[in-house]
Amino acid sequence: MKDLKQLVRENIWTLKPYTSARDEYQGRDAHVFLDANENPYNNPINRYPDPLQRDLKQSIAAIKGVPAANIFLGNGSDEPIDLLYRIFCNPGIDNVVAIEPTYGMYGVCADINNVEYRRVLLDETFQPDAGKLLAAIDNHTKLLFFCSPNNPSGNNIDREVIEKVLDSFDGIVIVDEAYIDFAGVPSFLEQLSLRPNLVVLQTFSKAWGMAGIRLGMAFASQEIITIMNKVKYPYNINLLTQQRAMDELMHYERIEEWVKAILSERARVMEEFAKLECTVKIYKSDANFFLVRVKDALATYSYLVDKGIIVRNRSKVALCGNSLRITVGTVEENNALLDALKQKI
Ligand code: PMP
Repeated sequence: MKDLKQLVRENIWTLKPYTSARDEYQGRDAHVFLDANENPYNNPINRYPDPLQRDLKQSIAAIKGVPAANIFLGNGSDEPIDLLYRIFCNPGIDNVVAIEPTYGMYGVCADINNVEYRRVLLDETFQPDAGKLLAAIDNHTKLLFFCSPNNPSGNNIDREVIEKVLDSFDGIVIVDEAYIDFAGVPSFLEQLSLRPNLVVLQTFSKAWGMAGIRLGMAFASQEIITIMNKVKYPYNINLLTQQRAMDELMHYERIEEWVKAILSERARVMEEFAKLECTVKIYKSDANFFLVRVKDALATYSYLVDKGIIVRNRSKVALCGNSLRITVGTVEENNALLDALKQKI
């Protein structure tokens, strides 16, 4: 890997971050807080939250087996995606490489930040070729995005390809593991301490069932996390989110039950889809959704909308012609979908 100083934008490297009142005073014994121009009434939401979410990070550290100093928390994992652009990519100069198709926000954030986005097409089984990815890289490539399991295809990305790129690319490799709890393979978190150029993204929005509170995680070297903390909004995770996440993490064993139920429903729904008249091909899934090619995606999508059932039409995405992305729901929701499709002439 290049020196971090060489990779980070110069204005960010030299940035003097804003220090909030709660950054300056970090002790726990004080009981009179007259430092942040808060209203003294309406406790507890009158107070600013912990800008570095220390208690929450301690809980996450214990669950994930990663030191708190290697954790960044964001307003969903979309926040760290955007921050990585702002930290590493000089607008109009630098570029990033990503597998294609994949999660759309990597490309949108590139556009927002005026950064060239180089798409490297997956093969027909939605797997990347390490040689093609490395060939797309030049001196101005700062970031390379993997998403595993990938969205919208649903499959785990070949581990050897990710490792080859981690070994060969001297910039930052991001492995977005939003769906890792469904994947049945180990997380790249295992390799975090060995690989200074690795950033792993995870989220509380999927298996953890908390999309509504907007909480995402980035795991990286302490040096990268320190820079992310410098650039983020001072109080990026609100008090209610921090508190609710702490409460939910107290009974995190529930997640295993949810994942089990979702995986068993995924198998059943995919089996039922294989029997449907409209199905052309069902792709392998390692996530809580699956991609299915149908005879006429728009017609099937519109038919379902009329019945009040919404799936995602991914037909315009590369390699996904006439394909729908189906999220696995409860037994009742899945039955509503299957019943509607069985009735379709
Ligand atoms: N990464 C992937 C691969 C996703 O599919 C999503 C959401 N669809 C996200 C990140 C963003 O998740 P959130 O911002 O809710 O954490």
